[in-house]
Amino acid sequence: MEYKCYICNKTIRTGEKFTFTKDGSVHLDCFVSDKRKKISDDKVEYLRNLALVLDYEMTYLVELLSLKTDDKEASEIIRKRITSIEKEGGETTNLIYNL
Ligand SMILES: [Zn+2]
Repeated sequence: MEYKCYICNKTIRTGEKFTFTKDGSVHLDCFVSDKRKKISDDKVEYLRNLALVLDYEMTYLVELLSLKTDDKEASEIIRKRITSIEKEGGETTNLIYNL
């Protein structure tokens, strides 16, 4: 499956940080800098912190997705962690999207 960033229109490559909004798939950097241009000055610090949180979540997700193991039990734990970090990243994305 190939995703395209709806802001810069480039294909999102493996290992690049990206997220999904109602508008589609988007690079993390494109998403945050686009939002930065649209918000009022009093929300900049809030956005900056949310962007950091989302960046950490995406970093964690990219690392988890790159983990490979033949161990069934370990695979199951990794799968669960991926599901929960995707959920949390989705929540952070929505907070930024709705700013
Ligand atoms: Zn982009």
